[in-house]
Amino acid sequence: MSLGRVVCVVSGASRGFGLTVCRQLAARAAPGSALLLVSRSEETLRREVETLRERCPGLGVHWTAADLSTEDGVRRTVTAAAEMSSGELERLIIINNAGSLGNVSNHFVDITDMEAVNRYLAFNVSSALCLTSSLLKSFPKRSGLQRVVINVSSLAAIRAFKSWTLYCAGKAARDMMFRVLAEEEADVRVLTYSPGPMDTEMQEEARTLMADTEQRQIFITMKKEGKLVDIEVSARKMLDIIQSDTYKSGDHVDYYDV
Ligand code: NDP
Repeated sequence: MSLGRVVCVVSGASRGFGLTVCRQLAARAAPGSALLLVSRSEETLRREVETLRERCPGLGVHWTAADLSTEDGVRRTVTAAAEMSSGELERLIIINNAGSLGNVSNHFVDITDMEAVNRYLAFNVSSALCLTSSLLKSFPKRSGLQRVVINVSSLAAIRAFKSWTLYCAGKAARDMMFRVLAEEEADVRVLTYSPGPMDTEMQEEARTLMADTEQRQIFITMKKEGKLVDIEVSARKMLDIIQSDTYKSGDHVDYYDV
């Protein structure tokens, strides 16, 4: 089970789903592949990269500490990716995983700070667009190269949840944005993957801070009854989907559907 010789960029790679995906992907990539882990936490990235280098000596594993809510963060990530050696590259995989929940202790009518809304959208929507477009320019279409773009999404992209105004809006916008990419670029394989509720820092934030008590209780119960999705299983499913390459480009695929 190999993904071949890949160059892969993973945003939000310091913990949670992104880190799990990196570890599994490193095990599936052929020697000569290169992997770039991106997040803001320099120390954590440095440590994880060292571990991956020891485990997978045939891979080029790199990190960039970048705040993807800023233009500078996006630019530095693109530069670092372009500098990674790729040799006879078979696959480019861009995994737009980084994300934030926003202030879920607020309901719609409490959201009056336009700057805060713009900051949320800059990170969760604009940076995913500009990072992906810039990376696709850095690795242009050529025969023998498959370019894969992953949008890590959520059920919140298609269903409204009380007190999740920004999160739902951001995920919905991203789904549509990546559907347009699939329409425009026939050679690019675009997968929008919803990984299911996993026990990460984001999930804990939802469980503790969500304004809507009914919804918060659902998350508390899921955790208590062990019903959260196993992060390893979800990451494996996503990589299996990329590898099998049978999905319709642009589609939203949910963990529970496959
Ligand atoms: P976590 O909050 O655990 O991790 C988020 C990651 O994003 C971290 O690596 C964090 O690193 C990085 N990040 C946050 N802000 C920035 C920033 N400004 N610039 C660069 N990187 C940043 O989230 P999960 O692992 O739970 O979620 C991963 C993805 O899966 C998200 O897109 C989320 O919406 C989605 N998802 C999660 C679900 C869940 O139940 N957990 C359910 C459905 C979807 P650092 O702080 O070092 O920057």
